[in-house]
Amino acid sequence: MKLQKFRVVILLAATLVACAPANGESSHADTSPHWTYEGEEGPEHWGDLDPAYMVCGAGKNQSPIDVASPAEQDLANIVFHYQLSEVNILNNGHTVQVNYDAGSYIELDSIRYDVAQFHYHAPSEHAVDGKLFAAELHIVHKSADGNLAVVGILLDEGAQNDAYLPFTENLPAKESEATDAGVTINAADLLPAEQTSFRYSGSLTTPPCSEGVNWLLMTTPVEISTEQIEALTSLFEEGNNRPVQPLNDRPLTEDSTP
Ligand SMILES: [Zn+2]
Repeated sequence: MKLQKFRVVILLAATLVACAPANGESSHADTSPHWTYEGEEGPEHWGDLDPAYMVCGAGKNQSPIDVASPAEQDLANIVFHYQLSEVNILNNGHTVQVNYDAGSYIELDSIRYDVAQFHYHAPSEHAVDGKLFAAELHIVHKSADGNLAVVGILLDEGAQNDAYLPFTENLPAKESEATDAGVTINAADLLPAEQTSFRYSGSLTTPPCSEGVNWLLMTTPVEISTEQIEALTSLFEEGNNRPVQPLNDRPLTEDSTP
């Protein structure tokens, strides 16, 4: 009897870990309903899995999107203030995430958004003119009043990218707590050289799909090697990218001036 109870506790604990927030863009508790990237708990059902996920199905400002025909404008540049961080890395069952050291931030229209973490999706979530990329990195930022800004970087197959190695060489294969990988990384080196971006107002791309997220998708993809892409895709074999969502009436702009 005692042993049975113990097993129930273990099972519950395992369930809680499996249902941890997808990528930390969200702040929902660990007891949130389970979801996946395919099957009965897949993206087309997220909105029905729990009342807290309703906006995943009913929202009109969802992410990702297919970027097509953006309005080119001379917008204020994103000002990056990224510093070196230790690689505190975890696998939450939906992605691998690096919890970034405090002190790094961007300025967007005079508002400061601090870097919280970065993580990836493979294949990419955003498409450009209908084309998906091999993978996509999301650097998640939060302002003092709780607003989110996500810098998206499209990753394309090409030359090895040494700046990404502290990440791609330390991916935990199984679900794990955050662990110090003993190396450092600088998010500034993960960005493309040309820092123009597509911009629109969207959502978290994982349940609860909350809207009001400032999306800043870098226009220029960054190359990583076939081996680095394989390291990313091998962890979540069914993929960990949400399909593109309708743009609806939202403005989509491109800051075309570096
Ligand atoms: Zn993401």
